[in-house]
Amino acid sequence: MRVLVDLNRCQAFAQCVFLAPDVFTLHGEEALRYQSRVDEAHRDEALRAAAACPVQAILVDRLDASGAAQQEEQLDGR
Ligand code: SF4
Repeated sequence: MRVLVDLNRCQAFAQCVFLAPDVFTLHGEEALRYQSRVDEAHRDEALRAAAACPVQAILVDRLDASGAAQQEEQLDGR
């Protein structure tokens, strides 16, 4: 699953860090860092973090790797 955070929108409230510490970390008081690719083991916590973000800064792509491959094939007309 892919994760993207709109860092212009993020206010560093850190809810995501508490809910998904393996995916999101705060460096200093304002610098959020995150994994842009989340494995299955951390998928649910990343989704919870996205739902809990008070400014909806976290975007999650729900396609897994096989789903993305299928979609690419469809787009290519294969
Ligand atoms: S919960 Fe949202 S606003 Fe807070 S640090 Fe995470 S992405 Fe930023």
